[in-house]
Amino acid sequence: MQQFTRRLHGIQVSHHKETANIPIIRMPVPEQVTIPMIQQIGAECQPLVKKGDHVLLGQCIGDCEHKLSAPIHASVSGTVTDIRDFVTVQNVTTKAIVIQADGKQEVAPTVQPPQVDSYESFIDAVRRSGLVGLGGAGFPSYAKLMPRQKGSIHTLVVNAAECEPYITADNRAMLEYADFLFYAIETVMQYLELKQTIIGIERNKAEAIARLKQRQTDRIKVQTLPTRYPQGGEKVMIYGLTGKVVQEGMLPADLGILVMNVSSLAFLGMYLKTGMPLVIKWMTVAGSAILIPKNVLVPLGVSYHDVIEFCGGYASEPGEIFMGGPMMGIDVFDDSFPVLKNNNAIIALAKDDVYMPKESPCINCGRCIRACPLDLMPCMFDRAVQRGDVAALRSLKVNLCMECGCCAYVCPADRYLVLANRLGKKLLREADNNEKGGK
Ligand code: SF4
Ligand code: SF4
Repeated sequence: MQQFTRRLHGIQVSHHKETANIPIIRMPVPEQVTIPMIQQIGAECQPLVKKGDHVLLGQCIGDCEHKLSAPIHASVSGTVTDIRDFVTVQNVTTKAIVIQADGKQEVAPTVQPPQVDSYESFIDAVRRSGLVGLGGAGFPSYAKLMPRQKGSIHTLVVNAAECEPYITADNRAMLEYADFLFYAIETVMQYLELKQTIIGIERNKAEAIARLKQRQTDRIKVQTLPTRYPQGGEKVMIYGLTGKVVQEGMLPADLGILVMNVSSLAFLGMYLKTGMPLVIKWMTVAGSAILIPKNVLVPLGVSYHDVIEFCGGYASEPGEIFMGGPMMGIDVFDDSFPVLKNNNAIIALAKDDVYMPKESPCINCGRCIRACPLDLMPCMFDRAVQRGDVAALRSLKVNLCMECGCCAYVCPADRYLVLANRLGKKLLREADNNEKGGK
């Protein structure tokens, strides 16, 4: 059983929070958006429109009845010009609705502030908003707000760490959308009957800390945390704020804790007040390949290319473009990729700043173990993967790895440890599937 016998570790990384003081600016309506039907953990939505249809801003264009799903809405008004195959970053093929914008941004009549007067109507409203975890996880928010046992949650933890280098979108949301944030916190507390809220924030966000502290109450507290990656990891944050450990096989809810990302809550407050579902994202566009780094409000489905053009274009040829931050983000290879719900940043690094080090043999220095925030043994995963040793991967608990990259960051032998961890999980999954198939 994972015990966290030592303090949680993590690493110091260069923050590159150069956009922290740059207010969020809205980009003009693009000519076209491409909206995939999978933008969350859970089931794929089915298109509710067809080629040639005229759609309005905020109109629901995709949904499904699966209990883990979230509806998808049009981010521009215009004409559906295509419904085509789309391959997600997880290599799943789905449909994507292509809308040619008419530039009018005519709002759908369904866009009305929701009537919320009970727990049930609150959950229904959150589902209709299309909200999923905006910090990167993409878990449907209404499902998160439905604990297995009603009344078992007592504490809302607002994850405002934003520990990934470059990204400052959450920081800006705290400064610019604080009214919406606090409205959402109070609403969640009211309908889930919570005792307290703790806003966990890294100490490198002095202005946001000061601003939020002005609004603290007896039941809503701001708690600062050391500036150390990956402070925003769910288990790391819970431990840092409460001293409680989410043990193997447990969820935060088993400790009476609900964790929500700060931008997700700010959006939720905005939706409850305006009724406009999730059709925009505030995101950071930064990195050495971006000419004018900014925090930008963009319509969902706009291409990375269009967003980067709005930021002055490329300063130099990009070597890598990340959906999210450089530590846990996903390399999208191609800037025709659309902005998705859980996409909080586009980070493009210049070719000269990107290099793939050559691996050398492990020297048993143990730095990866000391850096791992979850007390795992990455060097042992690496060896087990090389041997194809599924039993060892299982007993070493490779599945607990959150792929934060701390181990690879500190490894003097440049071992591809995150890649090995992913491979280890894949080997375990395949072995489990084979076992199930054999029964
Ligand atoms: S990537 Fe996994 S094994 Fe490596 S430090 Fe992070 S949690 Fe630990
Ligand atoms: S940090 Fe690298 S070299 Fe050191 S033990 Fe871990 S894998 Fe081996």
